[in-house]
Amino acid sequence: MPGITERLLYRVAKRWIAGYNLEDAILNAQHTNEKKMAAILNRLGEHTPDRKLIEEYVEEYLRLLDRMQETKVIGAISVKPSQLGLTAEKLLFSQNLGRIIDKASETGRSVWVDMENSPYTENTIQVYREHFDSCKDLGLCLQANLRRTRADMESLLEIGARLRLVKGAYPENADVAFKKKSEVDRNYLDLLKVLFGSDGRFVVGTHDDKLIAQAKALSKEHPVDFEFEFLKGIRDDVKVNLVNEGYKVGEYIPYGPEWYNYSKRRLRERKRNILLLMRSVTG
Ligand SMILES: Cc1cc2nc3c(=O)[nH]c(=O)nc-3n(C[C@H](O)[C@H](O)[C@H](O)COP(=O)(O)OP(=O)(O)OC[C@H]3O[C@@H](n4cnc5c(N)ncnc54)[C@H](O)[C@@H]3O)c2cc1C
Repeated sequence: MPGITERLLYRVAKRWIAGYNLEDAILNAQHTNEKKMAAILNRLGEHTPDRKLIEEYVEEYLRLLDRMQETKVIGAISVKPSQLGLTAEKLLFSQNLGRIIDKASETGRSVWVDMENSPYTENTIQVYREHFDSCKDLGLCLQANLRRTRADMESLLEIGARLRLVKGAYPENADVAFKKKSEVDRNYLDLLKVLFGSDGRFVVGTHDDKLIAQAKALSKEHPVDFEFEFLKGIRDDVKVNLVNEGYKVGEYIPYGPEWYNYSKRRLRERKRNILLLMRSVTG
C-alpha cells in the first residue's frame, strides 16, 4: 500500500508521465504526434540487479517497438542502462541493448541511451561505442554538469555519434561535476557551440529559455539538422511556439508504475513544483 506522500505525489506526477502501461504510452505518443512532435518513449525503471526484472523490461521494450510500428507512432525509445543490466553486469546491458537495437531496426525506429549518475558514465559510453559501430542511428545522452563531458563529446563526435545534450538530473560531487547553476549553464552553452560546429543530428534537451534562444541563434549561423526535446508536462507553451516557428521538436514521455524516482527528480528541479504538491493536498 503506497504511503500518503506517494499517493499525493502521484496526483502531481500524472502531468509528467503517460500512465502505468504501454497502451497509455502509445495513446500519449499519438497525441504528441498530433501536435507535430516526435514521441520519445521511456519505460520507467532503473538501478536493478534483478535479472528476471531486467528481462521483463527488455521484453516490454520489444513489445513497445512493435506497437509503435503497428500504431504508426513517429518517434523513438529511450532506455536507461541500469534498467537493462548495467547494475548487474556490463555484458548483460550490452547484450540487452543489442536485442533492442535489432528490433528497432526491424521496426524502423531509433534507440536513445539515457545517461544516469556518474558511476555509470564510463561503462555507458563504452557500450554505446560498441553498438554505434553497427547502428549509426543509436543516440546517447550527455550531461553538461559533468566535468568530463566536453572531452567525451569531442571524442564521440569524431565517430559521428548522435548526441542529446542535457544539464544532468542527478546529484553529483564537486570532484566530477559543476555544482553552481551558473557553471552548468555556461558549460551547456559551450557544449552547444561544439554541437553546432558538428555535422548535426543532435538533440538540444533543455527547458531553459536562455539556452533555447542561444540554440536558435546558433542554428541561424550553422544550419545543421537538430531537434529540440522536452520532457512531457513541462513548458508546453514553448513546444508549441517552436513547432510553429518550424523547428523539429520531440517530447520525452515516460510511463510505468516506477514513476516515483522520476517524479522526485522533477520536483527537485523546481521549487514551484513543491507548491503543486502542497496544493494537491487540498485539491
Ligand atoms: C528530452 C530530455 C531528455 C533527458 N534525458 C536525461 C538523461 O538521460 N539524463 C539526465 O541526467 N537528465 C536528463 N534530462 C533531464 C535534464 O538533465 C534536466 O534535469 C532537466 O531537463 C531540467 O533542466 P533544464 O535544462 O530544463 O534547466 P533548468 O535550469 O532546470 O530549468 C530551466 C527552466 O525550465 C523550466 N523547468 C525545468 N524543469 C522543470 C520542472 N521539473 N517543472 C517545471 N518547469 C521546469 C523552468 O521554467 C526553469 O526555470 C532530460 C531532459 C530532457 C528535456
